[in-house]
Amino acid sequence: MNTIPHCPDCEKQMEKGFIPDTTLLGALQATWHPDDPENAGGTFFGFKTKNRTKTVRIEESRTRKIISYRCPECGLLRSFAK
Ligand SMILES: [Zn+2]
Repeated sequence: MNTIPHCPDCEKQMEKGFIPDTTLLGALQATWHPDDPENAGGTFFGFKTKNRTKTVRIEESRTRKIISYRCPECGLLRSFAK
């Protein structure tokens, strides 16, 4: 997306940003994934866990990074996964 969207309610120009996904190792850019979430089966870097992490299985090649725009007036978010 090359043009900055405007808020459909306030008609203000929105601010570009992203939604950080915080992990034990730092923050990542959130991604979109097709299909229903499926439990990853309780492994963390290949080690069996009691699955307290509630991680879901992902196929890296099918993910898309999420860009999110925020209205400075009302806070509405519009997200795009290209
Ligand atoms: Zn707004």
